[in-house]
Amino acid sequence: MSQPIGTSTRSIHADDVLNVVDDVAPPIHVSTTFRYSNNPDDLIPYADRESTDFFDDPTSHIYSRLSAPNFTRFEAVLSSLLNGKAISYSSGLSALHAALTLLNPKRIAIGDGYHGCFGVVALFTRLNGLQKLDLDCAASELEAAHSRGAYLIVDSTFAPPPLQDPFLFGADMVMHSGSKYFGGHSDVLCGVLATNREDWYKQLFSDRVFIGSVMGNMEGWLGVRSLRTLELRVQRQSENTTRLVSWLHTALHAPNPAAGSDEAAIQAVLAEVFHVSVQKTEGDWLAKQMPNGFGPVFSITMKEERFAKALPSKLHYFHHATSLGGVESLIEWRTMTDTTVDRRLLRISIGLENWEDLKSDFVKAFRALAEN
Ligand SMILES: *Cc1c(COP(=O)(O)O)cnc(C)c1O
Repeated sequence: MSQPIGTSTRSIHADDVLNVVDDVAPPIHVSTTFRYSNNPDDLIPYADRESTDFFDDPTSHIYSRLSAPNFTRFEAVLSSLLNGKAISYSSGLSALHAALTLLNPKRIAIGDGYHGCFGVVALFTRLNGLQKLDLDCAASELEAAHSRGAYLIVDSTFAPPPLQDPFLFGADMVMHSGSKYFGGHSDVLCGVLATNREDWYKQLFSDRVFIGSVMGNMEGWLGVRSLRTLELRVQRQSENTTRLVSWLHTALHAPNPAAGSDEAAIQAVLAEVFHVSVQKTEGDWLAKQMPNGFGPVFSITMKEERFAKALPSKLHYFHHATSLGGVESLIEWRTMTDTTVDRRLLRISIGLENWEDLKSDFVKAFRALAEN
């Protein structure tokens, strides 16, 4: 009996069919243009090509606005990991832009999400009057909408493989900002759409030729390099986060902490910790949706705005910066980039440092704040 192939194995081998050289590590192809066959019998004029001809041989390329070797390998790996045909873009927002261009909806229901996505929606509102509705309805109403022809797109950036597969829960299309966990080293900007509809995939592919929002060759190469370690990274980041959140949450709620203890310092400055692992929900739907661990991002609110503003400056192992998903832990006083949030809020993206060191770093920082 054959067993399903594991996530890491697919990360490392799903692009084997595109490996047309002897190199073990993928070479960097920087060319924008590719030679046609030297055999006149192989030459098919553009007008005589079937649209499917473009998908016949993924090792053959014409011009890098259509396809190129490095991001084609990136897409091959992602198609396997996401359980849907994947297509890559120059950024997460250009992926969303491509999805809305494909579907051209009259109405979109969208909840609290990434603020940049609202900017893309506003662009379509300006161009063709796209109407934005709230998403604060029951799951049963969503199912009804789906049965009447609404499409469900999930921005799954915060829950990359192996944490969650939105296709298992009815998604028609999955979107990722690959600039986060897929890139994973804070050095690649890219976006991804995945779908199981062949017609959508082909339309997205030909739309991308004219929108021109392809990944760069270097980015495609870095992307493959990064995907090789995706499962290892995300699993460790998820474990680190759940450990830190559990420690912080327990310390925050410890009854009658002794004067001078870590718990007392934490309780003097910290107000709340937000993460799925400490979220109170009815039933076990969360654990069912994310059986392999929760996302490596959490947030905290401090008792006072001045504590939130100062905390990043007291931490040694956390960069004070926006974004998430990289090997380096980040903390952001969120009001720096988001106009809608509580000014006492900090968002934390946990990286691959040893979690005990991140914990000690937090203890020192909370103590420094409590003493002021
Ligand atoms: C970062 C992010 C985006 C936008 O992606 P870019 O690659 O920066 O364009 C979209 N959605 C979520 C949830 C994100 O975190």
